[in-house]
Amino acid sequence: MKKILALAALAAAGVSAHAATVIHAGRLIDVDASEVLTERSIVIENDEIVAVEAGYVDGDTVIDLRDATVMPGWIDMHVHIASQTSPDRQLESFTLDPQDSAYRSVPYAEVTLMAGFTTVRDLGTSHGLAQSLRDAIAQGHVIGPRIFTAGKSIATTGGHADPSNGRSRALAEDPGPMDGVVNSTDGAWKAVRARYKEGSDLIKITATGGVLSQAKSGQNPQFRVEEIEAIVAAARDYGFRVAAHAHGTEGMKRAVLGGVDSIEHGTFMTDEVIRLMKREGTWYVPTILAGRFVGEKAEEPGYFSEVVRPKAAAIGPKIQDTFARAYQAGVKIAFGTDTGVSPHGDNWREFGYMIESGMPAMEAIVSATRSAAELLDQSERLGSIAPGKLADVIAVPGDPLTDTSQFGKVHFVMKNGKVYKQP
Ligand SMILES: [Zn+2]
Repeated sequence: MKKILALAALAAAGVSAHAATVIHAGRLIDVDASEVLTERSIVIENDEIVAVEAGYVDGDTVIDLRDATVMPGWIDMHVHIASQTSPDRQLESFTLDPQDSAYRSVPYAEVTLMAGFTTVRDLGTSHGLAQSLRDAIAQGHVIGPRIFTAGKSIATTGGHADPSNGRSRALAEDPGPMDGVVNSTDGAWKAVRARYKEGSDLIKITATGGVLSQAKSGQNPQFRVEEIEAIVAAARDYGFRVAAHAHGTEGMKRAVLGGVDSIEHGTFMTDEVIRLMKREGTWYVPTILAGRFVGEKAEEPGYFSEVVRPKAAAIGPKIQDTFARAYQAGVKIAFGTDTGVSPHGDNWREFGYMIESGMPAMEAIVSATRSAAELLDQSERLGSIAPGKLADVIAVPGDPLTDTSQFGKVHFVMKNGKVYKQP
């Protein structure tokens, strides 16, 4: 009742309660039909798209993108929003307070949004940093993308996300489920419930060794299938999806059989794993960009520790080939970069690597919009430009379907109906 009266008062004062913003789009990428429409008007009220009309219709505010290619805001399904790799990474784990990392994450978020990524899935951040950043952005205190976060990644003792890996005996601890380390099915349930308590949106596990942890193997399996099944079962109770970091074949296979929703990196993905993923409907999030980045940095003396360097050299360059095979085989692919390994704001480079490996540009865009929204379980509100969706709209000046460099030239960004960048 109060709301109706408020609207009536606004109308009496001659103020339209629903001031429409209209974007005139010269070219509009329709990711549902995988086609390019021309001369369309996107009608936006508050934070929502209410109509897409043929031709150029009028509105209270008109945004002229008649010379641009307009598309849904991109979604990066694998970032670490509160960190960025540097040669000082290991030292900084001792010298930085969480507050230091929190301040650093503010420009990371802003540069991500300005690059055209209106939503990101954060796959592993400690101390509740990503939850706080997510909320600060949602409340308008900080400029950045909409964040869905896994909070602290879940690992086993000595596993890729054990926070005390590589420390001297005096400093090594024995972290438990609250810190994301489990070694039993009971521990698995507690670790998932701890993520619910810390305000996470989904679950991330490290199913095999990884490149950047101070541990010998980048590939060994690090969970039993029963532990993964327990994590997935607990996750379902809380409406969480489960993402699994995996490089090695055996750990990847266990993750798929254990019921996870996505395989991240997937480096040593065999034909058998591909068959299993297709059978189970498991998504693949490639992160070619991170692979290329660590492969290059492995050749720079002193960039990585001597434990990390050989893993980076062996694993990094392989991911792009894995992507090509998985794509050819018809595995479901959602766009993800592992940004935070490489610098924030460069996420768009993944498009070029995907296209270089045989995926048409239109499909790459679909993987970063409609497909990503599906894996996020947010298809109702995100992933395309259609009535009822949140108004996340970006544009580039030229044609990204024929010119890959356009992905790095986003000149218009709208999130939730608010403009953050204009030509
Ligand atoms: Zn990652």
